[in-house]
Amino acid sequence: MELTNKEMTAIKNEVQHHTVTLPDGTVLPSLGQGTWHMGDDSSREEDEIQALQLGLELGLRVIDTAEMYGDGRAERVTAKALKHSREEAFLVSKVLPSNAGRARLQSSLENSLSRLQTDYLDLYLLHWRGGVPLQETVEEMEKMKAQGLIKRWGVSNFDTADMQELSEITGGEACAVNQVLYHLGSRGIEYSLLPWMKEQAIPAMAYCPLAQGGNLRQQLLTNPSVKKVAASHDVTELQLLLAWSIRSGKVLSIPKAGRQEHVLQNARAAGINLTAEDLKELDNAFPAPRQKQPLDIV
Ligand code: NDP
Repeated sequence: MELTNKEMTAIKNEVQHHTVTLPDGTVLPSLGQGTWHMGDDSSREEDEIQALQLGLELGLRVIDTAEMYGDGRAERVTAKALKHSREEAFLVSKVLPSNAGRARLQSSLENSLSRLQTDYLDLYLLHWRGGVPLQETVEEMEKMKAQGLIKRWGVSNFDTADMQELSEITGGEACAVNQVLYHLGSRGIEYSLLPWMKEQAIPAMAYCPLAQGGNLRQQLLTNPSVKKVAASHDVTELQLLLAWSIRSGKVLSIPKAGRQEHVLQNARAAGINLTAEDLKELDNAFPAPRQKQPLDIV
């Protein structure tokens, strides 16, 4: 990918300009990178590594992975991408609910660290809520923090009631983020979850911000309002979706891109400034929720 230093710097400046703040005061760029399905096809691995590395150079520092992704394959690809730049990244991984108790959390974490070739995570998430009592998971997360194996912990796929319950248990207030599905075609969390999290100063990490594949994506990408607003900014519909997802300053989006050209487009989305008129047009096409909706989950 041929980019001049000047172009790289200009894009990075835009990326760094849009941030979210964690409850501990850590400031992160609102655009990061996902890794689901990386490593699934070995013939694509070199491209995926280069894509993650370009993203890092462009300031997309937050890299999201999980022990679940390809049974650790995505973590191994991530390790290769970060071989010479671990410290520049803000590395996130996730523990499966079945491993999130006293018996297995530490060994799951250590296995992730070993696959990721690092001795700490910046953030460790409970992938979704399972059978282990939340109190037990929080205690284990805090132990990992005390040992320096993780800097902070959070959750994923938690709805408003789960977040409330978490906040009421001992240590639960240390939760740094909640990672949830969010894009223009799936706005349910705007009804009560995002407002609740905003009150607690807990940012959301938006997964599937590009609506992945399938019918829904087609509906979004062929929608006349989406096309009109994208065209008015001279960007692609997917770049528009990304810019929309980070518009509040309370959401950090983690699009997955296994190709450098996609990473470059995604990073450039940080430079799109949506106007009140654009937002109104998009709201009319995809209205914000007027009542509580069940949490959307992949
Ligand atoms: P996304 O919405 O990020 O979409 C990814 C798809 O979009 C890929 O096929 C990718 O293709 C393509 N793409 C990326 N950039 C562009 C572009 N600029 N133009 C055209 N196509 C593009 O879906 P994900 O499901 O991957 O979600 C993002 C991340 O969120 C995951 O990778 C994972 O880290 C996390 N996640 C978390 C979940 C949870 O339960 N906590 C659940 C699901 C995801 P290509 O790779 O070819 O570039």
